[in-house]
Amino acid sequence: MEKPRAETISLAAAAVGKYWLTRMRFIRALRVQVQSYLEQRVEEKCKYCQTDFNLNIEVIQNIEDLFRAFLEESSEPMPGYSYQAWSRYFKKHVQTRTLCFDCSAMIEEYHMMKQ
Ligand SMILES: [Zn+2]
Repeated sequence: MEKPRAETISLAAAAVGKYWLTRMRFIRALRVQVQSYLEQRVEEKCKYCQTDFNLNIEVIQNIEDLFRAFLEESSEPMPGYSYQAWSRYFKKHVQTRTLCFDCSAMIEEYHMMKQ
């Protein structure tokens, strides 16, 4: 049997890379469309340590799952969905939490150790 050539392998890797890049860009676009709304929802204190310093808002759900649910419930076309409809759906269903930088880093570390 012929061994897969380096060329074939790098093409496959490139396809995977391209898929991830497209996906990351898409997720970023979904987020950009609702970012200003998220910024308005930042609370005054960190949910865990109550500090009011270095706060950041996090979406608790997976934004891709939210978007998938939006497409199913709204019958919006993909591609070509309405940004306004997405934004409305997002505002209605999103769950957020406000965390300081330190708590956020600790949670991330905890999840990394669990893997
Ligand atoms: Zn905190």
